[in-house]
Formats: sequence, C-alpha cells, structure tokens
Amino acid sequence: MLGEKIKSAIRDVPGFPKPGIIFKDITPILKDAVLCESITAAFAEKVSELRADVLCGVESRGFLFGMLLAQRLRIPFVPVRKEGKLPYRTLKQAYDLEYGRSTVEMHEDAVLPGQRVLVHDDLLATGGTITAVSEMIGRAGGQVAGYCFLLELGFLNGRARLAPYSENIYSLTVYE
Ligand code: 5GP
Repeated sequence: MLGEKIKSAIRDVPGFPKPGIIFKDITPILKDAVLCESITAAFAEKVSELRADVLCGVESRGFLFGMLLAQRLRIPFVPVRKEGKLPYRTLKQAYDLEYGRSTVEMHEDAVLPGQRVLVHDDLLATGGTITAVSEMIGRAGGQVAGYCFLLELGFLNGRARLAPYSENIYSLTVYE
C-alpha cells in the first residue's frame, strides 16, 4: 500500500521547529525515486477527473510534488509563496497563525478568471494556510477544483475548513 510506504518513509522530528511539536519530515521520501514516481502517479490518477486548468503549489514543500504533478497533468504550475519572495506584482492574503499572522502571495496574472485550480501542499494540518490560498484564488476569479496532500493530520480537522471551497480533498496518507 502506497499510504503505508509513505508513512514508513516519513521521519518524526520531535522539537522542530519549536518544543512540543513533532515535525513530519518528508525529505526521506525524496531520496526514493521509485516512491516519488508512485506518489506522482497516484496523485495524477486521483485528480485527473477534476479537469484542473492550473496547479497552485504552496511554499516550499508544496513545490516538490506540485511541479512533478503539474508536468504529468500537462498544466501550468503556480508557486504560492510567503510574503516578499515573488518579483512581479502580486495578490496577497493574510491569515492568522497560532501566534501572530502570516501572508501568502501569488503573481496577479498567475490564475485567470474562470480557471479551475488544483491546490497542493505536502501536509494539511489546521487548514489555515490552504484556506488563505483558497481565498486568494477566489479573489483572482479562479475556482478551486480540489486539493491534494501527501499527508493529512486528520485529528486537526483542516478538511472542514476547506469544504466550502471544494469537497474534492485527496490525501495519500491520513493520521487519524
Ligand atoms: P496548516 O496551515 O494546515 O495548519 O499547516 C500546514 C502548513 O504547515 C503546510 O504548509 C505544511 O507544509 C506546514 N507544516 C505544519 N506542520 C508540518 C509538519 O509536521 N511537517 C511538514 N512537512 N509540514 C508541516
């Protein structure tokens, strides 16, 4: 099972980036080219029915499989970044973190009105980041066709926050 292979490749790192957090490190997956190929193929199989026009990948781990998947689907890839990293004119969306606020950005011409957008990140936790990305896509005139994640922390229920944008939420691995 692919989900089990992903789980066994992931490394838990206690205390990163701060005490009390157990970080799911996905970098060991990237060392296994066959596993990366299987992951990209599994994503493609799940999302091809969504007929997305463009894929938005969220900085920075969402760039890894995001770009591979966009290539496989033969659709454009849009990098969504943290504030201040993109060179051209941008749309911005601020959102609340547990402590403080953050902002995501994409180029203002990256998603066109009426386009169907597939959104990808490595991990869905509370859904705060991806909700902000979804709002920003809506402001650009795009429509979220669906979401795909490598990992979902189901116990944080981020899925419920995404449902108003799209009910097509695919995670290859879920930690209940
Ligand atoms: P959320 O906004 O859903 O609470 O958090 C998801 C975002 O935080 C994603 O962009 C994800 O990359 C990052 N993130 C939070 N915790 C982890 C973790 O344990 N492992 C990885 N790889 N990313 C995490």
